[in-house]
Amino acid sequence: MNKIFLIYTGGTIGMKEDPIDGTLKPFDFNGILNEVPELRKFAFIIDSYTFSPLIDSSDVEPGLWKDLASLISQKYDSYDGFVILHGTDTMAYSASALSFMLEGLDKPVIFTGSQLPVGKPRTDGKENLVSAIEIASAKDRDGKALVPEVSICFNSQLLRGNRSTKVNATGFDAFISPNCPPLAVAGINIRYNDAVIRRSTTGELRVHDSLDTRVSILKLHPGITEQVVRDVLLGDGSRAVIIETYGSGNAISKPWFLNLVKEAARRGKILLNVTQCLCGDVDMDIYATGRALKEAGAVSGHDITTEGALAKLFVLMGEQSSNACVKALLETNLRGEISK
Ligand code: ASP
Repeated sequence: MNKIFLIYTGGTIGMKEDPIDGTLKPFDFNGILNEVPELRKFAFIIDSYTFSPLIDSSDVEPGLWKDLASLISQKYDSYDGFVILHGTDTMAYSASALSFMLEGLDKPVIFTGSQLPVGKPRTDGKENLVSAIEIASAKDRDGKALVPEVSICFNSQLLRGNRSTKVNATGFDAFISPNCPPLAVAGINIRYNDAVIRRSTTGELRVHDSLDTRVSILKLHPGITEQVVRDVLLGDGSRAVIIETYGSGNAISKPWFLNLVKEAARRGKILLNVTQCLCGDVDMDIYATGRALKEAGAVSGHDITTEGALAKLFVLMGEQSSNACVKALLETNLRGEISK
């Protein structure tokens, strides 16, 4: 009989309205089980673990990712798949992080949650949870998991975790993975996109749990001042800066900007160029404004999401003391996070 391990971290899916101040606050796991009796219809064993305290995902920190990675590795041999209930606000960050922290996965790790609490009549939580559990237990004829990846199951779609981003604060279609087709789509049947699903070549789980979080993000915009750019690019606290650029990786061509980028590179900072566009790729050779950034020392993020870039940097920097190695690995497709 299939065994699924369900991990509850918090999020709207398990929240209730506080009768006093009207805000949504988390309630315990039994509350979820009572609201989703459909779970009892599955012919497999579902064990669970509840984090304490339960949190709104706006409070997620890398410590939670380490706890999740450690829990999954402890239970890895005893279960066929893992489902993580998590708030939607930072789900794409957590799914990205786990994708890099868990190398060699041959079992599904599926994040899900909801926009409306499970107790509400129109909740999307039931369908999301039931689909996630079904997919987490799906196997081929040889008994191999159909989707041995870290993914997000939401609104009838299974998306690669490190390709996903939250794009809708209120609709049920909260997530997209603009540069990667869904891994599966749930209709009457669940259709699996085998051509896109990645499979581990080693089949041996390795956990990367030392994280270096010294990353800042510089989002370019018309009117950004030299002082603001200086503070972010040259700030002492960061080892890497993600520069969110325009279009295909284009930045300001003014000498003050390029000089600051060069100075940051000279000081040894890792500079990663990620586009603000949802779809498409960074190509620093198309426009002079992109080329100048490349010559100043920035590395291309290709079509990675900002969430994916942040998580990849945390994990790579946690493991590599050499910035040259981190830069080389940023250009390498490690977990399907870039189309390269
Ligand atoms: N604020 C909630 C959270 O991220 C929103 C949600 O779960 O949808 O925990």
